[in-house]
Amino acid sequence: MSQSDNSLRLVLVIDDDQTAHLWARRYLSTAGFTLISALNGYEGIEAFKQHSPDIVLVDIDMPGINGFATCAAIRALPSGKNTPLLMVTGTEDAERVASSYVAGATDFVVKPVNWKVLIHRLHYMVKASSVLRQLEKSETRLSKAQHMARLGHWEWYFVDDIKMYWSDEVFAIFQLDKESFVPDEASFLALMYAEDKACVQESFDEIIKNKTVVTIEHRIMTGKGEQRFVEQQIEMIENLNHQLIGLTGTIQDITERKEHENKIKRLAYYDEITGLPNRTFFLELLSSTLKLAKRNDRSFAVLFLDLDDFKGVNDSYGHYIGDLLLKEISRRLSDGLRSSDVAARHFHQCHNAEIARLGGDEFTVLLNELTYPEDAAIVAEHIQEWIAEPVYLENLQIYTGSSIGIAIYPQDGENSETLLRNADIAMYHAKKVGKGHFQFFHDSMNIKAQKRRKMENYMYQAVANNELRLHYQPIVGAKSGQLIGAEALMRWESPQLGFLPPNDFISLAEDNGLIIKFGEWAIREVCRQHKRWQQQGLGHLTIAVNLSGLQFNQVGFVPMVEAILAEYNLMSPSFLIFELTESVIMADTEKMFNKLWQLKSMGIKLSVDDFGTGYSSLSYLKSFPLDSLKIDRSFIKELPDNDDDAAIVNAILALASTLNLSTVAEGVETNQQREFLENSTCNSIQGYLFSKPMPVDEFYAYWQANTPSTL
Ligand code: C2E
Ligand code: CA
Ligand code: CA
Repeated sequence: MSQSDNSLRLVLVIDDDQTAHLWARRYLSTAGFTLISALNGYEGIEAFKQHSPDIVLVDIDMPGINGFATCAAIRALPSGKNTPLLMVTGTEDAERVASSYVAGATDFVVKPVNWKVLIHRLHYMVKASSVLRQLEKSETRLSKAQHMARLGHWEWYFVDDIKMYWSDEVFAIFQLDKESFVPDEASFLALMYAEDKACVQESFDEIIKNKTVVTIEHRIMTGKGEQRFVEQQIEMIENLNHQLIGLTGTIQDITERKEHENKIKRLAYYDEITGLPNRTFFLELLSSTLKLAKRNDRSFAVLFLDLDDFKGVNDSYGHYIGDLLLKEISRRLSDGLRSSDVAARHFHQCHNAEIARLGGDEFTVLLNELTYPEDAAIVAEHIQEWIAEPVYLENLQIYTGSSIGIAIYPQDGENSETLLRNADIAMYHAKKVGKGHFQFFHDSMNIKAQKRRKMENYMYQAVANNELRLHYQPIVGAKSGQLIGAEALMRWESPQLGFLPPNDFISLAEDNGLIIKFGEWAIREVCRQHKRWQQQGLGHLTIAVNLSGLQFNQVGFVPMVEAILAEYNLMSPSFLIFELTESVIMADTEKMFNKLWQLKSMGIKLSVDDFGTGYSSLSYLKSFPLDSLKIDRSFIKELPDNDDDAAIVNAILALASTLNLSTVAEGVETNQQREFLENSTCNSIQGYLFSKPMPVDEFYAYWQANTPSTL
């Protein structure tokens, strides 16, 4: 410490002994201190107030107020809290020493004072106190800064004695009262937002496991029940041996920042007029959809929509009306695409058709996970219908139309830009064809879509025009070879399209809902036919009818069946078997349970079609009132050479026998297959080996030929 530094140091000596002041002056001034003298306690306290000395020496034995009282009085002053205070005492008895400390003394010296030594002590004490003062200053500055930044600091020790320390700001962030709330681990975690708790806990684990610093953003629920966003930076506390003894972290309230970010995001990602995602957001959605589709080997469609003559609306009615029109269009798109009806039929598993406004009068729609890419055409048609409805705005009636271009992943592009561009190009082609049209980017899709549309148009007339047929395929006993029944399989004899097998039209009928009508027709036709067979001597044959899930899940399905049975006076129709696939039966097991029992109680038999291709819960198989399993053709195909298939078929047969179900093997084409099944526990078989499905006349002839004459 240099001389000039010391000259600033003020020493206050409070002593009633004049000679003490003389000695003090002599030694202190040569050591660079400036002396202030006080001859009694009162004077001393006053001098302290006036000069704020750096250090104080107080004699204990003084007339008036003694050294202890003087010391205590100085300590009580705001500026006297941290000033070093030395008590000077004649005798070094324990009681006096103790009283000195109680009064707030920093230390004490014994008379006669060895000034040479004392000088060094004084230097040290002044220095220490100035460091302390600096520290205090920076601490208050830090806590002010922390307060301003809403930054809190916590420490949590979990070795030996578990405890937690929170800075004032942590209490403030959690909106808890510092005086009454005692923080601990449990209360700390309890304040984390329920859904984010696991994430905070995981961070703790990660810090401990990887010895890293972790920064997390999460929500908290404050003591006043407010949800806030915080950012925490957490690290370990180690002891000198580098052993983990706790965690420490800073916590900052970032709610306002988050709100700003969200606002910026809204501005950056959403269109202001319609509130729909904008181009930036749409491209992001597109690229994440792409990744998923790539991984799952799925197809999806991008629809690019442009309003016809939007410019005309803007020009004649102004931008205000133009904006309102855009809003209305976006509402129609959202409502329409979200309506469960459209979603259920055309997107199957997907409920999320994403809509965006790219700018101007251009919109895009992302159709996820299409089973048939050409179905995008059906959605495009719906959209065009919704938009073509007149719009009423401020006493105006506005008609508008739209042109749509469709690009399909992956055939029309494997990245976002290409898909969007090709959808745009397709839209231009659509405009060229004429307003209010849609076009696929790829022409083969246009042809497919046209075919589908044509088929759909004719399909609506199929029942009324009596174009549907049922063909019957024999089912025979596996051991006896006797004809025991038939499966009714639908065909469509269309005057325009020709003779169509079910695989060509059933999926479309399921998409547009016509399968409900078709299925009802099939049940009625089977009943009508059986009635005739009863008269012709074929009444003992069972007939299996295939049911679609959509049809079966209709609310009115059971009453409809009842009505048909009553119509033909077929009470307790033991000949009638309904075939349902595994996926239909297992889809909504609760509802199934009731429906299946209702049918069962009407005397109808129930069979699980294509067994083995889907997923069946054994416990449901057990509790449902089922009668038989139809082993899927794919397992029969390579019998008896394929050991795996043989094992599967045997396993299904074993399962069926434990569940007390009879079995039908489908698709039997060869004698080897038949032999294999003959020697198993399979009950009956069906396949081209006996006959293909045939029209009813041929079936009658088949029956005659295969039934031993009773004459
Ligand atoms: P499915 O219920 O599995 O019907 C068996 C299909 O296998 C029939 O095809 C039948 O002709 C064919 N098949 C029978 N034996 C053999 C064989 O030995 N070898 C080969 N390769 N195939 C054989 P079809 O008639 O084309 O029917 C196809 C599917 O259409 C049916 O499969 C069924 O899922 C559906 N379907 C048919 N009629 C109806 C109906 O009235 N309503 C509903 N919802 N679906 C129906
Ligand atoms: Ca079937
Ligand atoms: Ca089948």
